[in-house]
Amino acid sequence: MAAGAKYHPSQELLLEFATGGGDRPRRALIEAHLAHCADCRSDLGRVARPGGALLAAVDDAPLPPALLDRIVQRIDSMPALPPQPADGIDLPPGVLAELVSMKPLRWRSPALRGSRIATLFHDDHSGAVLHLGWMPGGRVFPPHRHAGAEEVVVLAGGYTDGPKHVETGDWVVTEPGASHSPTTDPGEDCWILTRLDAPIRFTGWRGWLQRAALLFSSITRR
Ligand SMILES: [Zn+2]
Repeated sequence: MAAGAKYHPSQELLLEFATGGGDRPRRALIEAHLAHCADCRSDLGRVARPGGALLAAVDDAPLPPALLDRIVQRIDSMPALPPQPADGIDLPPGVLAELVSMKPLRWRSPALRGSRIATLFHDDHSGAVLHLGWMPGGRVFPPHRHAGAEEVVVLAGGYTDGPKHVETGDWVVTEPGASHSPTTDPGEDCWILTRLDAPIRFTGWRGWLQRAALLFSSITRR
């Protein structure tokens, strides 16, 4: 586990998480960052404190037995954590807890220079998608443009993205419309969790291939 992440989610995102907000892909991403960041765990404790103070101020009356029974039943019926989805990386328990309806992984590696991507979760309400990504060390991910925002938490290894070098635990945001081509650190596998608002679009010949595949699938679906 890294000594500490360099890049963190905003205070707004931590507050949203603390109050139970955010879609599952975002919450899973925050959990992944918290597993590696003592500073944000401490910040989260601070922003959650007002609610704790409110609870502490409530009269300490004994809980009615029927209510206690219902709470215990609810805890007993909570779904067990799903198994780790992939060999080679252990997702933090908090991430697994957000992904209780996760389906078995289907890796894709569409001309991505040895890297693989699998969808962990698609949020039907927000439209956001959570991906697990793996890439060998010392590789350049093909240039691509983001139609929507991309948020990443590095689970293992590291990479360079423009002027930034990121490592385990770091929270990385790519704004909508931005293009980039990250390069993984030599000698170690890189694992990431990625939340996308909208699909990425490859540039160059991969872009032609991607657009042709989309056109083909739209024709064959008719
Ligand atoms: Zn942090």
